[in-house]
Amino acid sequence: MTAAKYSEPVCAGVFLIDVLHAAPGAACAYLLKSESGECALVDCGGKNGEGQIFAAMQELEIAPEAVRWLILTHAHLDHAGCAGKMMRRLPNAVLTGHPSALLHISQPQLKLAKAARFLHGAEFYDREYGELLPVEESRLHPLEDGDAIEFGGEELRAMHSPGHAWHHLSVWQPRADMLYAGDSFGVSFCAGAGGEAAVLPVMPPTQFDPPAMRATIEKTTAHPARMLALSHFGVIANIPSAAAQQLEAMEEWAALSEEVGGTTDDDGFAEVFGKRLRTAARAKLQKRGLNEKQIDRYAHDMRLSSAGYTYLREKQNRKK
Ligand SMILES: [Zn+2]
Repeated sequence: MTAAKYSEPVCAGVFLIDVLHAAPGAACAYLLKSESGECALVDCGGKNGEGQIFAAMQELEIAPEAVRWLILTHAHLDHAGCAGKMMRRLPNAVLTGHPSALLHISQPQLKLAKAARFLHGAEFYDREYGELLPVEESRLHPLEDGDAIEFGGEELRAMHSPGHAWHHLSVWQPRADMLYAGDSFGVSFCAGAGGEAAVLPVMPPTQFDPPAMRATIEKTTAHPARMLALSHFGVIANIPSAAAQQLEAMEEWAALSEEVGGTTDDDGFAEVFGKRLRTAARAKLQKRGLNEKQIDRYAHDMRLSSAGYTYLREKQNRKK
């Protein structure tokens, strides 16, 4: 038997699929297969996600008809960009997620496409996302906090997890002891010394909400799931340590934002704060035993976080 190329088993009946967003190993979707053969997908990625997921399904001999749910952790396009295209090829699937996320992703032409193009720039947008297709209302199933859905005799339960975005939810799969946390519990690309995942929180514009993010990190840490499936990238098990790493970073960066805000005007803030955050974040990862090349893998998320803090600061200043 040749080695699987598109899917990687992370535990029985759960497969990680690299959706090739920006680079290999940067963003993933999860394919959940029940004993009866019915399946659910958690997230689907941007433009390249569709091809990667269908190739993985072919590799695993899963027919498109077997997929019952396409679950979106949130409506950012590295998770949900190809949802409309996926739904056209999954005749029995229902699209599900936070009610507000579904609103955006089912009618992407209203707001989402324009907002993402503005945030990422036209070149990145066209390369990574391309055309977004709408989804008919009859194929949507909004999930409130605590709602359960079923596939092939297995239960999945939603937990709203705001902070990274207020329309974010996590999904618990009791059978696998797994909580699919999307981006609500940071990003982790490498393990440091001692084998523990090195984690950074991610605070993008425009919905980054520090108190909500802290509350979500605490709620996730108290959750009974033994493993967390992150979208960037893979499964982690050192949950209390990962929580502590994020809370510490958040505290440090908030103090840094105050400090820099006191010394520069709004125009200078982004650049100075971005540099300081980058230096602080790199030092943190270095202390965990990561080398420069490994640390570089977190660079994109450092940029997102400094953009999030800058946006937050501008918003607060407008209110004054
Ligand atoms: Zn993401």
